[in-house]
Amino acid sequence: MKVNPELIDEIKKYGAFDISACFNCGNCTAVCPLSKEDASFPRKLIRAGHVGMEEMVSSAIEPWHCYYCGECSSTCPREAQPGEYMMALRRYLIAKYDITGLSKVFYKTGWLQTWLTAGLFAAVLWLYNSYTGDFGALAGKIEMAFPVYVTIALGGYVLNMYRYAIVKPLGGIKATFKPTPIIETFIHGFTQKNINGCEEPDLVRWISHLLVMSGYTLTLVISNLHLLEPLNRLYGAFSPVSLLVWYAGLAIIVGGGSMSLRRIFKSSESSKFSHPSDWLFVVMMFLIGASMLATQYVNVTQGPASPLLAALYRVNIAIETVWIILVVPFTKWIHIFFRPLAVYFQHVKKEAAAGTAFTLQLGGSK
Ligand code: SF4
Ligand code: SF4
Repeated sequence: MKVNPELIDEIKKYGAFDISACFNCGNCTAVCPLSKEDASFPRKLIRAGHVGMEEMVSSAIEPWHCYYCGECSSTCPREAQPGEYMMALRRYLIAKYDITGLSKVFYKTGWLQTWLTAGLFAAVLWLYNSYTGDFGALAGKIEMAFPVYVTIALGGYVLNMYRYAIVKPLGGIKATFKPTPIIETFIHGFTQKNINGCEEPDLVRWISHLLVMSGYTLTLVISNLHLLEPLNRLYGAFSPVSLLVWYAGLAIIVGGGSMSLRRIFKSSESSKFSHPSDWLFVVMMFLIGASMLATQYVNVTQGPASPLLAALYRVNIAIETVWIILVVPFTKWIHIFFRPLAVYFQHVKKEAAAGTAFTLQLGGSK
């Protein structure tokens, strides 16, 4: 097996600065409520990092099972922050799955992405402000282009994750089409139900995540189906579109606000350390929710001809454009897809070990 002696130093560049203090006692795995026999972490992956087992680390799906409850970090006798190591591994893996190599650059130099985002946002806003045509129609075209861009970016990630997690280590294309793993994958994706497996479930964190995720998914639906035309139509406060916007905006603001406060006050083990990309994520989410709510509020109260509405809608579209181009494909947002996929891949691995997985071979399939 190929050994990379630089591996642990490479992982440290994604966070997890204290992990060299680990003396391999195994306490973290013993207390981790989510670690199981067939998905054991975090000690095994810490050890793999230290001894340079790059293939094992690159094919790991365990970091996506971790909910960063922090129970391992608070009981580690060496204060090696194993929970933070799992987060660093997630960043490391995202950089691996990303075919453009941009995630790697952004994660290693977090400030770069923050400044690039601010610069791009200013440039997009300037372009929109200079635009003298039908801005509503332009916004509609941009909103319809988003799904194509996101689908291409996501497709690349998913295929690469599959290559690293299944094809390479298992030596071929394996899958399972049984209903149970597929249903479980969706349930985990929408509810993050494993967080309740933690010994002291952090309900505030779970609800905040749920609010942000549901609010953001709804925002994507509103944008991608081009449901909102605030410059062309007057909406009633309780019209179906307004109700969707109120929920999506408020859910993002409340959930994102709660996440930001936890990071500011470092109120739990999971919010003690913040990578610049974590801040970028919560701040951008907050801005999307606030600008969308403000746009809808002005439409309802002042009508579509209001100059304030036109200005707010430009800001909202500028933020969403930058978010989709730069933040969604290259940072932590993408993890909402990797977590459920990890659940599915875990089933595939189990079935492959038992010899019952669907296997695509050159000569046919079984
Ligand atoms: S991270 Fe801490 S608890 Fe885990 S094996 Fe290392 S020293 Fe032990
Ligand atoms: S943070 Fe929680 S879920 Fe993650 S490895 Fe540590 S104990 Fe396990």
